[in-house]
Amino acid sequence: MRIVLLGPPGSGKGTQAALLTERINVPHISTGDLLRSAVAEGTPLGKKAQSFMDRGELVPDELMLGLIEERLGSADVKPGFILDGYPRNLAQARALDEVLERIEQPAEKALELVVDEEQIVERLARRAEEEGRSDDNEEVVRNRLAVYREQTAPVSDYYRDKGLLEQIDGIGSIEEINRRLADALN
Ligand code: ADP
Repeated sequence: MRIVLLGPPGSGKGTQAALLTERINVPHISTGDLLRSAVAEGTPLGKKAQSFMDRGELVPDELMLGLIEERLGSADVKPGFILDGYPRNLAQARALDEVLERIEQPAEKALELVVDEEQIVERLARRAEEEGRSDDNEEVVRNRLAVYREQTAPVSDYYRDKGLLEQIDGIGSIEEINRRLADALN
């Protein structure tokens, strides 16, 4: 199964992807996690990406494309994938389609977790206290939400036009939302 997971920062994409990956046995590919590893390891990509991440900006498309192409080329992606955090703008959505076409693994569904912005701000503030992620401070969060609104939200329409979009209510318990996602895949 080849799934693109959409939704604003703090919508629970990562949590849900981690549960789904066990349910359907395909790898969870989180570009946020890949980038944070690259930063922690001090790779050339990590060094270039860090300042964008710290400001809540998107890491440039050409850096992201290299990263995602490499990851999607791995053997464990043969049975499918859950993509979390990519694509984040229309250029990335088109680039992803090209890559997936080349490897003959087109996306089958785009699941969007829908959560209103008020909830998001609350959740991210809580996460900042609990996890201390450096891009969860108030100013950077506000910027990530603005970037989402302006650049990432249109990606939903892109998948709607392709007939792949399914919107899921992202408010509720983790188990409830996981069940909604699983239902959407059946
Ligand atoms: P969140 O969804 O909470 O914003 P992520 O872990 O998905 O968190 O992403 C963290 C940061 O990593 C983003 O703010 C951005 O700087 C960078 N990033 C992740 N995925 C992408 C992407 N597809 N394109 C550009 N930047 C990205």
